[in-house]
Amino acid sequence: MAIAILAQTYLRLFKQLHKMKDRVAKLRKLNDFRRSLPHVSARALDQIFKGIQEQGLPDLMTRDQMREATNELMTSVTPHGPLIVEIELNMIDGTVIHDLAVNPMAFLFHAYRKDGPFRAMLDGCIADGHGTADNPMRLAVYADEVVPGKELSHNNKRKQWCMYWSFCEFLAHFHLEETWMPILAIRSETVTKTAANISQVMAKALLLFFGDLPTDMRTGGCVLIGGDGTQVRIFIDLWMVLQDGGAHELLWHCKGDGGTKMCMLCRDMIAEDTGEVDDDECPVIVCKEISAVLTDKCDDDDIRGSVDRLAARRLTLGIGNFKLLQQAVGFNDEPFGILRNDRLRDIVKPAKQYCHDWMHALMVSGVMNVVLWKLFVALSAVMGDIYTQVYNYIETWGWPAFRNHGTSVRDLFLRKREVSNKKAKTFKALASELLSLYPILALFLIRTVVRANICVAECEAFLALCDLVDLLTVANIGKCTPDQVHNAVVEFLQKCRDAGWIGSFIPKFHWLCHLASHLAEFGCLPTCWVHERKHRVAKRYATGITNTTQMEKSLLGEIVAHNLYDINRPGLFDLSPGLAQPSQATANIMQFVWDNVDPHAASSDVRKSSKARIIPAGFVGRNDVALAKSNDGDKMIAGKIWMHIEVYGSALTVLERWHPTFYDRNIGYADWTRGGEALLVPTRDLLSSVCHCDIGGGNSRTIVPWLYRQFEPV
Ligand SMILES: [Zn+2]
Repeated sequence: MAIAILAQTYLRLFKQLHKMKDRVAKLRKLNDFRRSLPHVSARALDQIFKGIQEQGLPDLMTRDQMREATNELMTSVTPHGPLIVEIELNMIDGTVIHDLAVNPMAFLFHAYRKDGPFRAMLDGCIADGHGTADNPMRLAVYADEVVPGKELSHNNKRKQWCMYWSFCEFLAHFHLEETWMPILAIRSETVTKTAANISQVMAKALLLFFGDLPTDMRTGGCVLIGGDGTQVRIFIDLWMVLQDGGAHELLWHCKGDGGTKMCMLCRDMIAEDTGEVDDDECPVIVCKEISAVLTDKCDDDDIRGSVDRLAARRLTLGIGNFKLLQQAVGFNDEPFGILRNDRLRDIVKPAKQYCHDWMHALMVSGVMNVVLWKLFVALSAVMGDIYTQVYNYIETWGWPAFRNHGTSVRDLFLRKREVSNKKAKTFKALASELLSLYPILALFLIRTVVRANICVAECEAFLALCDLVDLLTVANIGKCTPDQVHNAVVEFLQKCRDAGWIGSFIPKFHWLCHLASHLAEFGCLPTCWVHERKHRVAKRYATGITNTTQMEKSLLGEIVAHNLYDINRPGLFDLSPGLAQPSQATANIMQFVWDNVDPHAASSDVRKSSKARIIPAGFVGRNDVALAKSNDGDKMIAGKIWMHIEVYGSALTVLERWHPTFYDRNIGYADWTRGGEALLVPTRDLLSSVCHCDIGGGNSRTIVPWLYRQFEPV
């Protein structure tokens, strides 16, 4: 008997040992394989393995064959011609060159024919009555310069102007890069040598929609054919030109932020030169007479009239007088510019279609950078080393996973950053860092600084700006009105005046005054966060291209092929709450489901994910702290997320419930005791993941976003 037990034990040990040796051998093999390849991130390699497991090895695999595959797609003929077409550009030196652009009709044709999510979305728009000759799809265009490779290199040959387009009917998906489709990727070096710069280039790109290709999408529509042979015809009209201020200036040839007449949309906005220069050696222009009530707005006829009058006087006035006239009118006369292109006269409506982007207005060398700079100058004078105090405060806070900047938000308050801000006379930070910083800093100011009666006017100006950002962030989900935006801008400008900051009103302060009318006109306030992300695709491919003379062709081909694949990725436009990228449940999760949900569930009925999609568009990750609606729907609960599971197709979230101890609805924060019971909530009831910090004694504090402050914690 004893011998038998001994033998069994020995056998078990032997098997375990063998298993371990086997695993060690496999691990070494994987390691050797990975090291034998050129560098590719572990995450990317993991995805490549998964792709091969799911789809098998492609029959063709070499680099040349990859290039051939892209070329095949680019040259394949559609009823609207090939995907890549030539545009003709008149250069400053009088020559004419040909560059490349995407044929938007061929792009739509390919995207629709795949019968994927893109077709489903477009069919949905058509079913809602959009895309007809009377109610055309509303085209939005966006252009910006992208700097791949060595950003600081003096002569960066890879610097590109990229232009994307989308339909305003896709608003709910505007935050997805895939929704913005490429039309141009043209080298900046070429654009600067083009007569009228990017203005002529954009005019030529727009003509691809409206007349330069066999069909004018405004008058004749564009025929698309589904994989099943179904035909639809959609009509398109230009609706919105969304850009950063600098790009707007180049496009319209208005004098813009650096000119005397600084706003193309307002007759009475006169700016003055402070005599100072900024970090980039550009003169600092301010505009003290900003009123949130726009009394003297220009319409399309005014702008076109000014441009036409200038054009008519070019030959009759001497050079000096003509220059003065340009300054007075607020435009430069550019015969090849978009406003001088007669074929676009009925299509391009500069006043109606101009849309400011609030991300650039506020957070890219913008209003918030100025306000923070002024605020911290004031605070330093009274409180001494305020940067260190804020650094220590921020260090205690944690952000949701999807907004995790590592330590970069905290590091905005390092000593060296203070020195660098002082030198630049502005508060330097990335737009995304400012978006993450503002609610935490607001809480610090209210609870620590304002309470001590320090710099109250300055703090209130910043807090009024935070209220405005709260509103802007929910504008695209219909949760704020143009009146609310207008009132918030009025309040903010008044508080800035009270703080004595009128001499620092850079032109971007004036941009804010247009946001309410943009919201009324367009029904949304799109921003360029998505385009900044979109540029990564251009940067990724542009950085890898070594032959810069063939660059445009290669880059455009890569971007288009990438977008055409992405736009039909399964589940792409699914905004319903649920698991993001779910996978098979582990044994532990199955046990949890048997104990708590259904003892009869099979492993094929259950999936898991570390990330869940919630409404409005956003994510809640594992270990995030999140708010959720209570059972009866009118209160909120909070807790730390343990996992997201899906059982029989229904998404559920397991969290560690926290219990409320204090709530300040006006300021927007709540305190909770951690370590409550485990709770299973429907994932659709999650409201938002939130910033949180430990306040001692087993308690945590969370920010409560503006949108959810009406809920009582429970
Ligand atoms: Zn204006």
